[in-house]
This record gives sequence, C-alpha cells and structure tokens, in this order.
Amino acid sequence: MEKIKKILVANRGEIAIRIFRACTELKIPTVGIYSAEDSGSFHRYKADESYLVGEGKKPIDAYLDIEGIIAIAKDSGANAIHPGYGFLAENEEFARRLEEEGIIFIGPSSKHLDMFGDKVKAREQAINAGIPVIPGSDGPVTSVEEVANFGESHGYPIIIKASLGGGGRGMRIVQTADEVLEAYERARSEAKSAFGSDEVYVEKYINQPKHIEVQVLGDSYGNVVHLYERDCSIQRRHQKVVEIAPSISLEDGLRQQICDAAVQLMRNVDYINAGTVEFLVSDGRFYFIEVNPRIQVEHTITEMITGVDIVHAQIHIADGQDLHKGETSIPLQQEIPLFGYAIQSRVTTEDPLNDFMPDTGKLMVYRSGGGFGVRLDAGNGFQGAVITPYYDSLLVKVSTWGMTFREAASKMDRNLQEFRIRGIKTNIPFLGNVVKHKDFLNGNYDTSFIDSTPELFL
Ligand code: ADP
Repeated sequence: MEKIKKILVANRGEIAIRIFRACTELKIPTVGIYSAEDSGSFHRYKADESYLVGEGKKPIDAYLDIEGIIAIAKDSGANAIHPGYGFLAENEEFARRLEEEGIIFIGPSSKHLDMFGDKVKAREQAINAGIPVIPGSDGPVTSVEEVANFGESHGYPIIIKASLGGGGRGMRIVQTADEVLEAYERARSEAKSAFGSDEVYVEKYINQPKHIEVQVLGDSYGNVVHLYERDCSIQRRHQKVVEIAPSISLEDGLRQQICDAAVQLMRNVDYINAGTVEFLVSDGRFYFIEVNPRIQVEHTITEMITGVDIVHAQIHIADGQDLHKGETSIPLQQEIPLFGYAIQSRVTTEDPLNDFMPDTGKLMVYRSGGGFGVRLDAGNGFQGAVITPYYDSLLVKVSTWGMTFREAASKMDRNLQEFRIRGIKTNIPFLGNVVKHKDFLNGNYDTSFIDSTPELFL
C-alpha cells in the first residue's frame, strides 16, 4: 500500500487547523481548501498551500464539491484526504470516489459509512453484536398505524427519528396517541428536506437519560481499543454544548460494560479508524443509539485524559500501520492512561438571550484565556476576523483539564471569564452559568438540564 505523503484537509475552521497541526507534527505537508467566502479565514493560512474550491457554488456547497476537491488533491500531489467532521466526512460517495482514484481517505471505509450513516442499519448491527438497543420499530415505519401501534404496545412517550438524521435534527417526540398523525407527517417531511430521504423509525422515548459515548479506534490488523467515555448530556435541542470526560456519575461496573459493548460492536463489524459509539443511560441501564464514523468535535477532552492524539492515530491507521506498533503507535488497551478530568465548552457566536440567534460581523476585540490545563481550538478566533452567516457558529472550543472534576470546572469558569470578545455576541455568559451550576458540579443532570434550568439564561 502507498504511504501517506501529503494530506489535503477537506474542511474549514477549527477542525481543519487541528488536523494541519497534527500533520505538521508528523512532518507531513498539508493542503487546504477554502471557499470564496472564506478567503480571509485562518485555516487557509495554516496549511502549507491552499486553493480556492467550488468557485461559483454556494458557500456550503464549495466544501461539498467532490470532484473539485479531488482535482485539487491530484494537482497538488496530496495522496490522502482528511474530511474532518460535517461536510463530506460521512459521505459514502466521497469515500468511494477516493477509493476509485487511489486517494487515501483518513476515516472508515465506504462500507462502514453506509452501515452507520443510516440509524436503522446501525441498530441492526448493534443487535447483531448483542448490544442493548432502545425498544424500537423493527426497521423503518411506513404508516401512521405502525407508529400508533408501537405507541400502544410500548407506551408513550415515543420518538420518531429520521433514519439519515444527524446534528440533533430530524427527531420528534410524541407524548400521546393524539399527536401521532401530525408528528409522523412532520417528521417525514422534515427528514426529506433536511436529509433527502423521508425514511423514519420509532423508538421508545427515554425520560431524562444521560448521553454517554465511547471513543473507539480500530486498525486494519483487527486491533480495536476504546479511549474511555465522554458524558455529553449537556445539550440544547439534542445538540451538545458542554462535554465531560470521563463521566462523573457512572459506577465502575456500568462504565466497563458500556466501554466493552462499544468495542464489541466495532470489532464485530471490523471497524477501521476513529469512531464513536453513542448510548443513552437511564436507571442503571444503557442503550445503543448510534455510531459516528468520524472524528468528533469533542475528541479534545478524550485526548486530554488519555494523552492519545486521536488525529495522529487516524493518520497512523490510514497509513496502514498497526495501532500498537511504530513511532505514532498507542499503548495496548490495559495500558492506555486515564488521568484526571476534562471538560469542553463550545463557544459559539450565538446570543443566548435571543434564542441563540447567530450573530455576524467583525470581531473588534478577541482575547482568550490560557494557563495550565487549558486547550483552545479556534477557527477564526482573532481580532479583525469577520464572522459570516454561511457556516456553523462555533468560534472556539475551550477545553480544560484538572486532576479532579471540580478543578477542571473551576479552570473552565476562570477561562471563560478571561475571554474578552467585542463586536460579536457569544454564548460565553451562558456557558459560565452551566459550569458553575451546582447540579452540573454534582453530576446531577441529564439531557433535559438546559431546558429545565432557567437560571442558566440569567
Ligand atoms: P443525532 O445523530 O442527530 O445526534 P442521536 O440519535 O445521536 O441524533 O440523538 C441525539 C440526542 O437526542 C441524544 O443525545 C438524546 O438527547 C436525544 N435522543 C435520541 N434518541 C432518544 C430516545 N430514544 N429517547 C430520549 N432521547 C433521545
């Protein structure tokens, strides 16, 4: 197999910069791409060379321009592409086109993207591997009656979910039988417009669960390891806001079972590269919900507690190497360190007092926090940067580490306070309220925390 010589990052913002940094550390030259709207974006300058992509296309579509990206890779001599998260990261056609072109995709195979891009297929794989799933429909549902029958036999509330859903979208909670008709129709039409398919399925709605996910790495020699879990229960509209690693409220037996289940599933499907197995946990039981076959936004906190550089590992694996051999190898499962606690806050350019409306314009002042145990992953985090409305509103990921959870939380609070951002509204005051809240500090929260805690908005 050809070795990785030069890497193109098919992404923008903080994750593109994160990956360029890893490549530079590994002495691998980098190629960036940018849309016309991103011509002043920082990620462009963090690559060794960068090229305009998707000329004449809409801002989002530029980063989805499969053939344009392949042409840039070929012209620049990049023989591997890292997709980051979002955009083409889980696009099977992209992975397949790269396979055809002999370009290395730094991620799982198109087979695994297909398997896990569809939540109904993913559920089947979990069942095959003997992992507990949420009671749900046997495959997709195709009529209102099927949904109503499921509600009748399992009891309400239930949740209708788009098979191809993601990013917290394409889900509808149904509280009573009266709501089934409208919820079903809406879920389908939303799924169609957001994900291009109106296929939906039904699950029992788990009341006030915790969201626990396990970071996994697999290589082409059959090695599969986990890097412990993250607790991503602090969510707004089913999207993660603050994440913690490891969880502070799982008893050890349950943690072990969840990590083992994640490894079992990924081993069962011969998974290769980085992936995350997500679960809901309620009343001492855990249930599989989905697999994310890519690097995730919150990978930073797992790196802080284990010392494993997940992007290095992804490149190592994609380069055809054994996870446990070579210069960038990682320890065997039993020897992977677990040290202290880490928290990540997603600082966005959204106004928490105005329903998290995205703000745009120029950053007149930008000063960040810092100090021991702090990691900052920013995209356009600098004075004079222009925040446009075209892309997601993540400005900087603030991750803090402490020997204890309280110490990590207190570093987070102090760091958020140190930020000085003028010209653009951010959610920093809101995040500060989260990490200071007694229920957060005591582990006394679940996925309904933000909705049920009005004082976070003061
Ligand atoms: P996405 O792919 O959009 O992120 P997930 O299936 O991972 O969707 O679910 C995201 C979040 O939605 C979960 O963390 C949880 O808060 C909520 N959720 C999903 N399924 C259920 C369920 N059956 N019961 C309760 N909450 C759920």
